[in-house]
Amino acid sequence: MPYTMTRSSDGQMHISTVTDVQALRILRRALRLHADVAADKHHTVTITRTRLILDGEDTAERRTVLTLRPEPRAPRLTRTQYEDLARIRQAGTAARLRPDGRIGGMFCQVPSAAARRLLDRGLAVTADGDRVSIGIAGLLAAAAHEHPVRTTTPRGWHDPENGRLPTTRQHRRHPYQVPDFSSTAVCSCGFRAAADRRPFASTFARQHLEQVLRDALLTA
Ligand SMILES: [Zn+2]
Repeated sequence: MPYTMTRSSDGQMHISTVTDVQALRILRRALRLHADVAADKHHTVTITRTRLILDGEDTAERRTVLTLRPEPRAPRLTRTQYEDLARIRQAGTAARLRPDGRIGGMFCQVPSAAARRLLDRGLAVTADGDRVSIGIAGLLAAAAHEHPVRTTTPRGWHDPENGRLPTTRQHRRHPYQVPDFSSTAVCSCGFRAAADRRPFASTFARQHLEQVLRDALLTA
């Protein structure tokens, strides 16, 4: 699965296409150079590197921004794919693509058809010969799979639980009811953030997802 890479530096913009292997290499190099990395819900990766350069007697800041947008859009993982990726990650540097197409080097190998799909979709990549690593798409898809963050549906206008009629001014279209438009962002990892309106809860959910995606990129 290729990436569309946009490189902006000094007011110039350059667009190119890079492979999964190249994209992973670019990310790893950026991490070594202590660049800032981020990913959004579309799994587009943004790498920002700021350097100080000499400008005559002075120093100036030069910023380079790279974005890597997956084409086509980032895949969702099946449970099996998630488990296969987890085993490859666990095997670390021992994971290898075998001549028969299976991914070996761990206790339970990935069958060749499943291995082919992981590689075709860039979830796993072979770099340095037959060594198998998790690709950027795999890192992000696994993190999204582990963090299915959502927002709860607000109750809206509803009958008061205690059976007592609301003492506040009655709403014309909802007489005898009380309003509740609060919503909570919840994730299976235990993350919870309550807000008094759903759009705010959605913002908390997005921030949580972006945080876990960023953490996933740091493990590349
Ligand atoms: Zn979570």
